[in-house]
Amino acid sequence: MRILKGAEVSARIKEQVREELEKLQVKRPGFVPKLAIVRVGENPDDVSYERGAIKKMENFGLRAQSYTFPKDISNEEFKAGFKAINEDPDVAGILLLKPLPKQIQEKEIDCMMKPEKDLDGISPVNMAKIFMGDDTGFAPCTAEAVVEVLKANEIPIAGKRVTIVGRSLIVGKPLSMLMMKENGTVTVCHTKTLDLPGTCRQAEILVAAAGKARMLDEAYVGQDAVVIDVGIHVDEDGKLCGDVDFASIEQKASAATPVPGGVGTVTTAVLAKHLVRAGIRWAE
Ligand code: NAP
Repeated sequence: MRILKGAEVSARIKEQVREELEKLQVKRPGFVPKLAIVRVGENPDDVSYERGAIKKMENFGLRAQSYTFPKDISNEEFKAGFKAINEDPDVAGILLLKPLPKQIQEKEIDCMMKPEKDLDGISPVNMAKIFMGDDTGFAPCTAEAVVEVLKANEIPIAGKRVTIVGRSLIVGKPLSMLMMKENGTVTVCHTKTLDLPGTCRQAEILVAAAGKARMLDEAYVGQDAVVIDVGIHVDEDGKLCGDVDFASIEQKASAATPVPGGVGTVTTAVLAKHLVRAGIRWAE
């Protein structure tokens, strides 16, 4: 089984970002786009993701700053704080860490976010653009990262049976649209899918985005399928793992992404790609 390493895909994207940044600096000498990472509370997973994202932006020659708010902030106070970031001309792009605490009206914030700064594709305008196959918006970084992994490894999508386990707004649904745009024949599975293992076994490309640690084992994988694992979990031994039981699929799959070191690495590279694009638009 071929292991589809995220680092190689990320390095390719880094090169694209470098070229775009060079062009941008010709137009606007000294301008480096800045990402605002907005976090409410101190959830350790968010803090760790934020740290990784800041490191990645800097490593790609971009800027990033975290904007943190207390967990018990009121909806109105958070909206005011978010509005200031949204309107700050020094901020080219925003990443809002979710889920937000219950008292905050998440949908209101999604709708407030300027589409041109919404690097993770959560605003209604960007969602509509994905649905329309219009690539002038931003798709959610994780969904786009899945397509990047396949393309970078020259795995064709057109005409293939693609099965996605998961239908969330941030991964499964937008990914189904991106895969259709690439001419894949897409099946989307969820908790009400009947015969999930049998449906998954039909897939030539299987994407696991169910959010259940090591749920998909060899019984879900057809012979020679390509398996992309979006899940990220910490198991009972404190080790990172995905939605796929990696060891059990080794004799079945032709290729698979590992966790860690797979889609997650590419997700932050896509975020950097979106940031430089937002910076170019801002400069224009
Ligand atoms: P989510 O919002 O919890 O959605 C999970 C989806 O999987 C739902 O549509 C759910 O179906 C479906 N599902 C759950 N259990 C299932 C089962 N037993 N059988 C069939 N379908 C099942 O999760 P998410 O935000 O999309 O994230 C999915 C995974 O990706 C998580 O592990 C998350 O940590 C990871 N993630 C990774 C990245 C990255 O950068 N790599 C980024 C974002 C998320 P229903 O709709 O019927 O409930």
